[in-house]
Amino acid sequence: MPRTLDPEVRRALATRIRYYNEMGIYDFYRRPSAATDVAATIAVDEEEEPVSANAVSTNYAESGEEMSPRKATAVAMPVAVDENIFDAIALKPEQSVSDPVKALKIIREDLGDCTRCVLHKQGRKQIVFGVGDPKAELMFVGEGPGADEDAQGEPFVGRAGQLLNNMIKAMGIEREQVYIANIVKCRPPGNRTPERDECATCSPFLMRQIAVVKPKVIVALGAVAAKTLLAMSASMMQLRGRFYDFRPAGVRSNDPNWDGCKLAVTYHPAFLLRDPRQKGEAWKDLQMVMKELGMKAPQTSR
Ligand code: SF4
Repeated sequence: MPRTLDPEVRRALATRIRYYNEMGIYDFYRRPSAATDVAATIAVDEEEEPVSANAVSTNYAESGEEMSPRKATAVAMPVAVDENIFDAIALKPEQSVSDPVKALKIIREDLGDCTRCVLHKQGRKQIVFGVGDPKAELMFVGEGPGADEDAQGEPFVGRAGQLLNNMIKAMGIEREQVYIANIVKCRPPGNRTPERDECATCSPFLMRQIAVVKPKVIVALGAVAAKTLLAMSASMMQLRGRFYDFRPAGVRSNDPNWDGCKLAVTYHPAFLLRDPRQKGEAWKDLQMVMKELGMKAPQTSR
């Protein structure tokens, strides 16, 4: 018979589960235990999710090989736990809200003046949450804010942003019709590449944004975005040129008609500024996306 939890233990348990939620872990399962065993074990079994739809893992390697499926971990709890506590906490607050604008606002409020990773104390001016149509069919995900984005609080507003705007225009749509966000929401100092643990800490909020926007296609801009979203480590050459089935890890959609989307990988606009010869390749990627979305490029594009 489950025992009623002491309020203090209950609070501590709630804090612990919130911590796992923020790390992108939401599914908790109770292992059957012997009647004499007072310790209930809660297994966090992430292998239930398809490998193709994973978010970031904290132990992936840059070896160029696909990441191994995430390992199950177990957390021992002191007493049998009434399941309601998990149901209540595992449910994302925005999931009970049908208006995506309000739902995104809830996620932003949840993020708060975030200090979850070291980027909060490395010179960021502000958190760059995301921008665009909260019901967009197409979503672009970059790596992290640069100096201009940090100053203006909006992703892709510098030179790379101008190029992204041109790429979007070439597809026959406007920037306002897509949703744009980054893997990390604070500027890494000196525009360095975000560390894996920073991506792992921040990306659960992006996953929640994706689950709210419910795009039909996500375009991962550059290797960091691609590797984090797909939990794969491979070269851009290997990652580009195909669609992946994607579901935001750790978040269940509250929409029975949306169970994930397609994800394509292309070059980051900042890379294209450095190596404009690759623009043709990026255009091929975008044409693949347009075909998937049934879009036709305007005659004057490119
Ligand atoms: S990068 Fe993300 S997790 Fe890190 S401090 Fe900024 S908002 Fe928080």
